[in-house]
Amino acid sequence: MAGIEVTALHKRYPDGTVAVEHVDLSIGDGELFVMLGPSGCGKTTTLRAIAGLERQTRGDIRIGDTLVNDLPPAERDIAMVFQFYALYPHLKVRDNLAFPLRAEGLPKPQVRERVDEAARLMRLGPLMDRRPSRLSGGEQQRVALARALVRRPRAFLMDEPLTNLDAELRADMRTEIKHLQGELGTTMVYVTHDQVEAMSLGHRIAILNKGRVEQIGTPLEVYDRPASLFCAAFIGSPPMNLIEVEVADGRLRGQGGLDLTPPPGLPRDRRLVAGVRPEALEVTEPGAERSVPARVVAAEGLGDEIIYVVDHGGQGDVRVRMPPTVRFDADAPVGLRHSGGTPAVYDVNTEELVA
Ligand code: ATP
Repeated sequence: MAGIEVTALHKRYPDGTVAVEHVDLSIGDGELFVMLGPSGCGKTTTLRAIAGLERQTRGDIRIGDTLVNDLPPAERDIAMVFQFYALYPHLKVRDNLAFPLRAEGLPKPQVRERVDEAARLMRLGPLMDRRPSRLSGGEQQRVALARALVRRPRAFLMDEPLTNLDAELRADMRTEIKHLQGELGTTMVYVTHDQVEAMSLGHRIAILNKGRVEQIGTPLEVYDRPASLFCAAFIGSPPMNLIEVEVADGRLRGQGGLDLTPPPGLPRDRRLVAGVRPEALEVTEPGAERSVPARVVAAEGLGDEIIYVVDHGGQGDVRVRMPPTVRFDADAPVGLRHSGGTPAVYDVNTEELVA
């Protein structure tokens, strides 16, 4: 097993497209590390560079103690799993698993032992004699994962491996991958554009934007303190409300008079925006203590919660997460107030977290 160090990675494709501007990553041995970002931010290119499938224009990649810049993929001792399963259609599951080991020239008893072990870990027992065309999408993906396992690589690289599965299966496979990674303790780099997947899987998450790392942190750090307005708008469903604020009498005052608790160390003389999670706000009866007058624009019931879209004095929509037991009608006059915690505060000009 091994950690992975990516230093000052830059990738420019022959057509001039700069896919990765500058990426530094320090991935721990045994870590499940997620790269998250919108389409085109450079996740796949970074992962393919680690795998050796793409040659970087500049920068270094180390796997364990080895500088692998000049090593072909086969000599990097890693296994990659893609969103398309890439199984051999004419081979039974058993032989799909054995194939990479036979190709390496491993003796038969060892091939059998490793295939059985992978089959056990991915619970493929009853499927071993089927061909891929007779498997469901989820089963095929389990076989693809098992085939990555048999090689006992130093690290797994996963590129949106669950994209083609339906929602329920995705959730199941997520749990399975997390469990598997925990059991094996093998370093894993997992690429996704799905923040729910990132939050539920990652020990740490790197948020990428336009070929750069915007933030690296644990799921909680990234959720509580997004490092930039980009991260604030990207994480959370719905994401943080971004509310222009002024500092007055030691308080943070939002547009429409919304009163927020200021974090320590606020800079002076800058235009500021507070990022407030929907669950840190509350829709109240009109005139409730510390509330500002507002109006319900829409209510989206999700069963276990309601997302209220409210407008306070023409200041734009604010989203509020409420338990399903609290009901307000659309268009009803209500109150809006901050219900807890301190918001993250950003400089409007630099778009960075300042307090
Ligand atoms: P997605 O989630 O859509 O897969 P991504 O974050 O993985 O996106 P990349 O696939 O790394 O992003 O692509 C980053 C940028 O590089 C994009 O603008 C893409 O169009 C471009 N790109 C990717 N591969 C090539 C290539 N072979 N030649 C030229 N440009 C490329």
